[in-house]
Amino acid sequence: MLRQYELVDLVKSYDPDADEDALNRAYVFAMKKHGAQLRASGDPYYSHPIEVAGILTRFKLDSASIIAGLLHDTVEDTDTTVEEVRSLFGDQVAQIVDGLTKLAMIEQKSANNKQAENFRKLLLAMSEDIRVLLIKLADRLHNMRTLHFCKPEKRARVAKETLDIYAPLAERIGMQEVKSELEEIAFAELHKEAHDSIVARLNFLREQGNNLVPKIIAQLEKDMADNGIKATITGREKTPYSIWRKMQQKNASFEQLSDIMAFRICVDDVATCYQALGVVHSKYHMVPRRFKDYISTPKPNGYKSLHTGIIGPENTRIEIQIRTHEMHEVAEKGVAAHWAYKQGEKAVGRNFRWIRELLEILEQASNPEEFLENTKLEMYNDQVFCFTPKGDLIGLPLNSTPVDFAYAVHSSVGDTCVGAKINGEIRPLRTVLQNGDQVEILTSKAQHPSTEWDRFVVTGKAKAAIRKYVRAYKREQFITLGQQVLERTFKGENLEFSEKALVNVLQNFEAESIDDIYAKVGEGLVTSWDVLKAVYPGYKQSKLGRVVKSLKPVFRKSSDKKAKKGEPLKIKGLIPGMAVHFAGCCHPLPGDRIVGIVTTGKGVAVHTIDCKVLEKFADEPERWLDIAWGDEALEGMHIGRLKLMLTNEPGSLGELSNLIARNNGNIANLNITNRTVSYFELQLDVEVKDLKHLTDIIAALKASKVVSYVARASQ
Ligand code: MN
Repeated sequence: MLRQYELVDLVKSYDPDADEDALNRAYVFAMKKHGAQLRASGDPYYSHPIEVAGILTRFKLDSASIIAGLLHDTVEDTDTTVEEVRSLFGDQVAQIVDGLTKLAMIEQKSANNKQAENFRKLLLAMSEDIRVLLIKLADRLHNMRTLHFCKPEKRARVAKETLDIYAPLAERIGMQEVKSELEEIAFAELHKEAHDSIVARLNFLREQGNNLVPKIIAQLEKDMADNGIKATITGREKTPYSIWRKMQQKNASFEQLSDIMAFRICVDDVATCYQALGVVHSKYHMVPRRFKDYISTPKPNGYKSLHTGIIGPENTRIEIQIRTHEMHEVAEKGVAAHWAYKQGEKAVGRNFRWIRELLEILEQASNPEEFLENTKLEMYNDQVFCFTPKGDLIGLPLNSTPVDFAYAVHSSVGDTCVGAKINGEIRPLRTVLQNGDQVEILTSKAQHPSTEWDRFVVTGKAKAAIRKYVRAYKREQFITLGQQVLERTFKGENLEFSEKALVNVLQNFEAESIDDIYAKVGEGLVTSWDVLKAVYPGYKQSKLGRVVKSLKPVFRKSSDKKAKKGEPLKIKGLIPGMAVHFAGCCHPLPGDRIVGIVTTGKGVAVHTIDCKVLEKFADEPERWLDIAWGDEALEGMHIGRLKLMLTNEPGSLGELSNLIARNNGNIANLNITNRTVSYFELQLDVEVKDLKHLTDIIAALKASKVVSYVARASQ
């Protein structure tokens, strides 16, 4: 822990006019006020504000900032009042401490949600005084450094918030050092395995004698000296987090990443930057599209530098940044570096153009979410930020969909998601999410991940979970189906069916378990007849063998337009992907009792249980599938067929179509089957939701005076 005189000396080293007396009083005040309070680490609490003040001296901040850093938790955590701070340390310090305290209070109230609100308050506070943000970042940095002392749940939450909000903010104000350190700690916390494996590989490379950094530095130094350029050259491996990000973005493995080393050439002035660039490009191959001139066009946060990628010394692909010493100072310390040069100016956040822009958006937005929607484009560009209904912030890669969102919330949410409300409206699951969308995931325990999703999700988490689930789910369905088919086949031949008998024939089918056999039969890789013959060698095949063979599922082509209308998943007892169609004879509707008939070559035909056509299959029970409508609401429309008789008078057909429209039906087809002087006979196909819908329409038609007879048509 920094001692009192060490802290004062540090401040005086860059700010000889610092208010030494106030610094001393603030140091003692913080110690006294926090008294015997302890941190999770067991350290006295006052060590925290003192460390925070120490971090702030690295950015050469003025005494008011250092003092506010020392006092930042006193109003929040002790009996100190803002007025007390004001009377002892003045208006500026009191205002900064007040801003930080309000922020801390919101954070505690909404540990898990309302991040949008937090962010809004933070922006408001820092617009009053940018030093609030600088101190908040130092505070967060020290809390992250001591994060391992906290409980696991808290650690994950704090680390995630750090990655979502504080690291981008640090970057936004150009504090590269702080940003990197925050990211590294959060990364190690949130993705420990990935972090450890990257660190291990970096170590391995170094031990292998592949630590090229010093060799490359030496060569670059020689190159510069040969051309009379005075330069300071540093080099490093990229941080584990930035390597990981790159692996994700490029979907590459560690070995595939070619440039894991970055070098920096710092020179005296801008002209020399371009001279150094010339030396590098004339001596080494430049990697196309990697050159960026942020000197002529600085980044929005003020960052200036030349970036290039080359096949450098040792034939290694490396990244090089070229900048002046002053640019370097600004790049590492950001706003704080400007700060050091502009001590006299008023410490108001509005002086910074980007904060002013954010504030303008804030004034126009009606709520925090809308505000965030509009501001994050300013803050981040390769991500979208969306909210849960509770206000939790979820950061996702560009082009993410509600399914990605659902998996980001929790894999169980992803697995059971059936729909999504985006900003209150039901939208398709493939909708691309926009910044600021509030996403509510609708779930149903009956739902399973769909192979369809795999085509539009972008996050690895969603992709992996979907593939895994679909594999397991399909197998389960194949097992159930295969078992049914086998039992039926054996029963149809009056042969005993037992799992014991199957154990003896496992090898015949390269199966390791009975389930394997069921799955193979269900999938159609093996026919039930093959199994029967294996169990009863020499048994003579009856006509049933042929029929059972047809159980091999027919898979739809995805281009088949009917695939969406057919809704095989909405019928229980079928396997997904199995071809299914609704019989034209009886037009089954949700609500009807139904049965499936295995047809030859066309998959399963769904009939109503009372359909006359079923009589044809009465003596082939093995072709009957026990199926039922699923529980979920059916979105798709079904055809209900009606027979009706209409009085033949002007306007009666118009009245008919009005009646149906008023009952939300839609006429799909109309055939006048007979027409006489006094009546029409019609066959009418109506699109309806389900049986009840059709029954309602029939009732409405019966009540009409133009309809003399109406009934559901059947053959
Ligand atoms: Mn603190």
